[in-house]
Amino acid sequence: MVRVTLVGQELTGFPVPGPAASVRLLIPLAGRPELVIPEWNGNEFLLPDEQRPTIRTFTPRYYRTKTNELDLDIVLHEDGATSTWAASASPGVPAAISGPGRGYSFDSGASAFLLAGDETAIPAIAQLLEALPRTTPVHALIELAHTDARMALPDHPRTTIEWLDLPAGGAPGTALVAAVEEAHLTEGVRLWVAGEAAAMHKIRQHLFKLRGLSRSDATVRGYWKKRDWPVGPDGLQPADSG
Ligand SMILES: Cc1cc2nc3c(=O)[nH]c(=O)nc-3n(C[C@H](O)[C@H](O)[C@H](O)COP(=O)(O)OP(=O)(O)OC[C@H]3O[C@@H](n4cnc5c(N)ncnc54)[C@H](O)[C@@H]3O)c2cc1C
Repeated sequence: MVRVTLVGQELTGFPVPGPAASVRLLIPLAGRPELVIPEWNGNEFLLPDEQRPTIRTFTPRYYRTKTNELDLDIVLHEDGATSTWAASASPGVPAAISGPGRGYSFDSGASAFLLAGDETAIPAIAQLLEALPRTTPVHALIELAHTDARMALPDHPRTTIEWLDLPAGGAPGTALVAAVEEAHLTEGVRLWVAGEAAAMHKIRQHLFKLRGLSRSDATVRGYWKKRDWPVGPDGLQPADSG
């Protein structure tokens, strides 16, 4: 994971969102130094040459009002347009954001919280640990594809953190799904879960269909989608994006 700090007068007045909110990050197309702002054609955002821009979603980790700085923590993985950009971005490289989108409105009367996610959810989980009531027990399940991705998380006096290793060759979310399925859910617990889309589908099926939780008890969000084909700058299969 690498921290990218965006800075600029344009960030003045950036509304500090609740925990686990989102922003959309626009970066230059691969190999192009300049950032071109796309235009909405009534259907989608397109660049003047009709190409789709590279826009991805991230968690606005910290915003410092005084210096107009916004931190994003970006997971480095193979082949991602933004991941590749973040790995080599240097001061002065242009980027733009839109947002923020809404954060997680948690139930402050919950008896406990279960947070679960993969590496992409770590920034949001860190914010939740900072925001959740100090007296409520919080259990966090975090799946890592690489064991060296383990990091210090903000202190919460009643938190237990369980790091789960993704088995070699396992589909993303394998360990996370198993851990959520085995979790003991006490009366009044609230869940926040995020990670790879297919794993999130399994977790939704388990929580809402098998365990019979109500939708208001658990927020389950697909943060990314594993694809076995090359993706275009817009994150879609090239054949779909023309
Ligand atoms: C609300 C929200 C908040 C998010 N917050 C964060 C955040 O704070 N930090 C963060 O890193 N991500 C976050 N994500 C996930 C991030 O948007 C995706 O991982 C995104 O696809 C990364 O873009 P990319 O250009 O690097 O890869 P893409 O070009 O989108 O994908 C290229 C290839 O990489 C694969 N891929 C994409 N992401 C991953 C990954 N994490 N691990 C392994 N393979 C991957 C895809 O399956 C595809 O095959 C968030 C998503 C949402 C919806």
